[in-house]
Amino acid sequence: AVIIEKEVVIIGSGYGGSVAALRLCEKGIPVTLLEMGLDWEKSGEKFSPMISPGHSAAWLKTRTIAPFLNLFPLKKFTGALDRLDFEHIKIWLGRGVGGGSLVNGGMAVTPKKEYFQEIFPSLDAEKFYAHYFPLANQELGANTASEDFLKSCDFYKFNKVGEQEAEKAGFKTVRVPNVYDFKYMEQEYRNEVPRSALAGEVIYGNNHGKLSLDKTYLKKAGATGKLEILELHRVNSVAQNPDKSYTLDISIINTAGEEVEHKLIRTKKLVLSAGTMGSLELLLKSNALTQFPLDKHIGQQWGNNGNFMTGRNFVNTFSGGTGAQQSTIPVGGIDHWHDKKHPFFVEIAPLPMGMDVATSLYLMVNKLKKYGDVSYNAQTSKLRLNWNESHTAHMKDNAKYFLRTMNKANGGTRSHLLFHNGFGADICYHPLGGIVLGKATDQFGRLNGHQNLYVVDGSLIPGTIGVNPFVTITAIAEYCMEHVIKEDFS
Ligand code: FAD
Repeated sequence: AVIIEKEVVIIGSGYGGSVAALRLCEKGIPVTLLEMGLDWEKSGEKFSPMISPGHSAAWLKTRTIAPFLNLFPLKKFTGALDRLDFEHIKIWLGRGVGGGSLVNGGMAVTPKKEYFQEIFPSLDAEKFYAHYFPLANQELGANTASEDFLKSCDFYKFNKVGEQEAEKAGFKTVRVPNVYDFKYMEQEYRNEVPRSALAGEVIYGNNHGKLSLDKTYLKKAGATGKLEILELHRVNSVAQNPDKSYTLDISIINTAGEEVEHKLIRTKKLVLSAGTMGSLELLLKSNALTQFPLDKHIGQQWGNNGNFMTGRNFVNTFSGGTGAQQSTIPVGGIDHWHDKKHPFFVEIAPLPMGMDVATSLYLMVNKLKKYGDVSYNAQTSKLRLNWNESHTAHMKDNAKYFLRTMNKANGGTRSHLLFHNGFGADICYHPLGGIVLGKATDQFGRLNGHQNLYVVDGSLIPGTIGVNPFVTITAIAEYCMEHVIKEDFS
């Protein structure tokens, strides 16, 4: 195949890739962004609501892959939500221009400063909290719902009940910012604009209202005229050339996932932002296929960010349940991080089933007690994840404690119908780590043993950050890009 030459290539258009694209383009540097999923806006395809998913709902699957409500057959299509299935854990991901921002719940949470310092002792926390976190939140469009709206909007009954019950049980609740535009949601509520969060759209994508990366960082990057986005470009492997440039082996795929063209791109500088699992797979696979130089830390310090799903039934049954219609956008959390014995953060999650199921859904974020690790099985050409129930046992203890305390104060029972008897230990929305900042890379994401390869995504965070992670991924990407652009790109 003909080799196409590029100055700078970014693989992946999630948080890390989008920050890298904007900051490079702003400096006048031409950037090519490769994304295996669709450019949704260009494609004209619509995202699906949760209760009536169409072909756009899942990445090349023949059935839907939500954590629950999987009754729907699908036509194979390069859809928005993907799931990687390992023996003891399932990992959900977003596919398309915007990566995880297309399918996530939009919770924009800045981590606790003390925990950030504990996880990243060598970073300047003062600078992060004075500069990189505010910058990330501003560029991402984080905003907070008005209390009046939340009080009056019946789509937020699940959250009102969730907070009241938590407080009655002695837990501290917190309001959480989001990147869904709450002004838009108020207009939805008044029926002035097409509904999205109030029409059950979220994990298969939002057609309106959500400030996904294509509407923020990538839009700004595009406006510089320096950004080329190539959709449906799946990078298969990376080879390092003798002159320390890289050659990427690429399949251009159609919407059925079939290769329609094979391409080679050579680039002087490579930014790897394929997300925790995508970046790990590319490095480990490239090592197996092309003797790509690999540092011993790659694959180490992987974690699920302490994700543990659980739920309660018969919530508020006598005074009216949790609401038949629910906004898909979470706004409330429970902060129980200070408890030495049972530290956790909880997202009070919506459960938009289209009817009142009087059930509360919770996504817990726990600490890690031990890391998992990731390797590559060359025989099966698949990632191997060393992660099992011994990694999540303490998270289950926390869930038991949380449910017990909630039920004692409010009534209700563990939701045996959700997950495995009410415990979703194997559900992961926040894979982190494996290419840890300052271990597998230097302090700014330059991969050890390489001169022109920068890792900028969730894989830099060692397995845990204590809250939903995209604000932290964005802030770290801002920090890394500021430094490497100054030192390596001028
Ligand atoms: P990603 O956003 O995963 O982006 C990586 C991109 O690279 C993807 O677009 C992928 O298609 C592309 N790619 C991968 N491999 C290749 C390849 N070989 N070739 C070409 N392209 C490739 N976090 C929060 O903070 N708040 C939330 O409310 C929240 N809710 C979530 C809900 C769900 C259902 C899910 C799945 C996640 C949620 N998250 C949330 C997590 C958050 O979305 C992720 O942490 C974040 O997207 C990770 O960013 P990233 O830059 O590391 O990679």
